[in-house]
Amino acid sequence: MGKGFFKVPVAKNEPVKDYAVGSPERAAVAAAYKEMYNATVEVPLYINGKDVKTGDTDTMSCPHDHKHILGTYHKADKKLTQEAIDTALAARDKWAATPWEQRAAIFLRAAELIAGPYRAKINAATMLAQSKNIFQAEIDASCELIDFLRFNVQFMTEIYSEQPESTSGAWNRLEYRPLEGFVYAVTPFNFTAIAGNLPASAALMGNVVVWKPSASQMYSAKVVMDIFREAGVPDGVINMIVGDPAMITETVLASPDFAGIHFTGSTGVFNGIWGQIGTNISNYKTYPRIVGETGGKDFIIAHKTSNPAQVATAIARGGFEFQGQKCSAASRIYLSESIWPAVKEQLITDVKSFKMGSPEDMSNFITAVITEGSFDKLASYIDQAKKDENAEIIIGGGYDKSEGYFIEPTIIVTTDPNYTTMTTELFGPVVTIYVFEDKDWTETIKLVDNTSEYALTGAVFSEDRYALEEAISGLQNAAGNFYVNDKPSGAVVGQQPFGGARASGTNDKAGSKLNLYRWVSPRMIKETFVTPTNYRYPFLG
Ligand code: NAD
Repeated sequence: MGKGFFKVPVAKNEPVKDYAVGSPERAAVAAAYKEMYNATVEVPLYINGKDVKTGDTDTMSCPHDHKHILGTYHKADKKLTQEAIDTALAARDKWAATPWEQRAAIFLRAAELIAGPYRAKINAATMLAQSKNIFQAEIDASCELIDFLRFNVQFMTEIYSEQPESTSGAWNRLEYRPLEGFVYAVTPFNFTAIAGNLPASAALMGNVVVWKPSASQMYSAKVVMDIFREAGVPDGVINMIVGDPAMITETVLASPDFAGIHFTGSTGVFNGIWGQIGTNISNYKTYPRIVGETGGKDFIIAHKTSNPAQVATAIARGGFEFQGQKCSAASRIYLSESIWPAVKEQLITDVKSFKMGSPEDMSNFITAVITEGSFDKLASYIDQAKKDENAEIIIGGGYDKSEGYFIEPTIIVTTDPNYTTMTTELFGPVVTIYVFEDKDWTETIKLVDNTSEYALTGAVFSEDRYALEEAISGLQNAAGNFYVNDKPSGAVVGQQPFGGARASGTNDKAGSKLNLYRWVSPRMIKETFVTPTNYRYPFLG
């Protein structure tokens, strides 16, 4: 910026539309859904601004209607992966030198395209590809992605304005350079917003990106890429490739110019990537930034003084929205015995009332899980719970994949706090409850802290301030996002920066300034106005 200290629009969270019966937004999404369902789409690779069709394709179908083919996506081989890297590197100098206000304008424009002309389309794509109901699609694909784009622009300007002290004789300037090389963004299936944000946040800070979306999110990934292009992201700045994830990742991590990874997904995959980076460390020109937000086994702990209706609602929403396929979904629940009967009664009533089916019918609360692999895994845990003596299924337990991958919302009650579904991330609509004696509050806090390798989200419910305080401090390392008298899911960009520690990730807090710092490498420039000409200091006489 050479000619003004420009102020960006103050970032505000995008209002969530309610999609009430008869509303225009509901009609628009219904029409987009129908049109996209009845057409077939072809998703190319995007390399250097061009659509690349390799002919090596896989089909895309709806998880809730898996026999229906939505279209195909093209896959990259090793050569094209290398081409994506080379293209990004060729675009780097020009993009890194582009004034920040131009980068800001591109991503603010992308936000407005989503808020307006693309809203119905990106929501419908997320309903079709990932089986989100309309509300879940709206808060993810539209609102959260818009928020990421708007807030990150504001955070960028806040970072740039952080400058060191200077004296009258010397001016100290901190320049927030992009990383020297390219950034690799690897994104999960479960949030269209994360898929868009991981490449966009690094690119906003002046980096060039190779982006590998999840094979289970290709339809909405295409819409995101089309929006980036229309918003004016220059050729080569964000290159989208998909294919064999292990091959692509191995090729990317072998590049000496690999400068950072922006990953969200499971812990096992991230651990593997970290190991490969370690093996290659002496080949890189610069130490790569490693940012990974990974798995969770998120908890709710409720004291005897908590309100049973509030606790039951938090479990129903926090555990089952988007079929429990949120990294923040409540899946291990610790309930005080005196509130348990009332929580149980409401929870069973609530879960019984959930409607399950295609997201096209907007009265459905629950839809399908993402893949057959996920379905089979969940079904096996449910079958095991039916056999185990220390577990009882109090509602749900059914499943059917004849049309879509439908798993009934299931609640297991266990007498063993280390029961397998209390410790393993299942990533589905299965919640496990352990009931503790009222007198064991302190021990149960320790149990919650020690049970899981993860530390992503957690929640405490109580009307007793001392009990709350004990949980807040006793569980300080058990969750990166901790909720008091609220469900542990539903973080909002700019309000609840998101990320966990332990096996849940590097905690670089997506949706905050902290994340953007990882995509810059500051350069300190000291300029002295009257430069000394004699080495002798006064003390030398
Ligand atoms: P996943 O780990 O299966 O896939 C994530 C990405 O990694 C995808 O792009 C995938 O293609 C790629 N991948 C898979 N195998 C790979 C390999 N061998 N080498 C390199 N890349 C590989 O995760 P998912 O099923 O898409 O998403 C669910 C997981 O993501 C859950 O564990 C969830 O908790 C986590 N998640 C975490 C957060 C967070 O903020 N902490 C947010 C969303 C999801």
